[in-house]
Amino acid sequence: MPPTESRASQQADPTSPGAGRLAGIVAMVTGASRGIGLAIARAYAAEGANLCLAATDRAKLEQVQAQLALPPERTMVHALDVSNRDACGAAIDAVEARFGRLDTLVNNAGIYQSRTFLEYEPADFQRLLDVNLFGVIHLMQAALPRMQARGFGRIVNLASTAGKWGSRNQSAYNVSKHAVVGLTRCVALEAASTGVTVNAICPGFVQTDMVETLKQGYAAIGGPDGGEAVVKAALARVPMGRVLDPTEIAGLAVYLGSRESSGMTGQSILVDGGMLMC
Ligand code: NAP
Repeated sequence: MPPTESRASQQADPTSPGAGRLAGIVAMVTGASRGIGLAIARAYAAEGANLCLAATDRAKLEQVQAQLALPPERTMVHALDVSNRDACGAAIDAVEARFGRLDTLVNNAGIYQSRTFLEYEPADFQRLLDVNLFGVIHLMQAALPRMQARGFGRIVNLASTAGKWGSRNQSAYNVSKHAVVGLTRCVALEAASTGVTVNAICPGFVQTDMVETLKQGYAAIGGPDGGEAVVKAALARVPMGRVLDPTEIAGLAVYLGSRESSGMTGQSILVDGGMLMC
């Protein structure tokens, strides 16, 4: 049967269980082109979700879409810059036009930059907040009313251990992630009686391009050994003693994006090899 709008929107009600932990769920994953977002997209595909893959780079998203090899009626790609509010509204509209609704929003897109506090320009703070915080705000404000009107929704925000404690040389990043943790709690409270849950995942060190950006940033601050030294020092604080794999984050994203997590909201859950125990 050729893919049609009507067929996609006739899929199972997300409140009814089906095959796969995300069967019948329509999900949008931002930052799905690589790293943690790619691992989440793969896990969501494997668990039966219909997927909108989102990031800035359409060509990379199309490569991911081809790798996932899902039936055409189960995927779409949407290129956007999450810091652009109008683009975020248009992205949610596009998902609803294609699949009939959006059940699970995974706000994973993010950027990182190392600087000492005194070296950060205001524009650096602004850019990190525009993407890491306002991207989450724009997409939640576009998606939440429609989720609430349908009485079901899952929002999964990618925060960080950097949202839970202080770190040297990345104050703007930590500020953005602390804000995501706080925002998650506040929106969860306001949505709690409407069938929509809002939770955050706080990864520690995960092997992605972002860790390479971190190493380069610290090398610039602390000399040629700065990057490796910071990873070594960070790993010394991780009881498991290793950098995590993106798939180790994806499992929790499946749970939080599914019907299974119906009793949990406002939480910011560490997945960090035991680095922080709070
Ligand atoms: P990554 O490998 O650098 O990938 C970032 C993703 O975000 C890419 O798909 C990128 O797509 C997308 N993106 C960046 N800016 C965007 C924008 N303005 N609009 C739309 N998409 C944008 O990062 P990651 O390590 O997987 O991190 C994913 C999330 O986990 C982030 O929120 C990050 O802060 C958080 N996190 C990561 C770690 C870690 O150790 N890796 C630890 C804690 C938290 P394009 O290339 O198309 O722009």
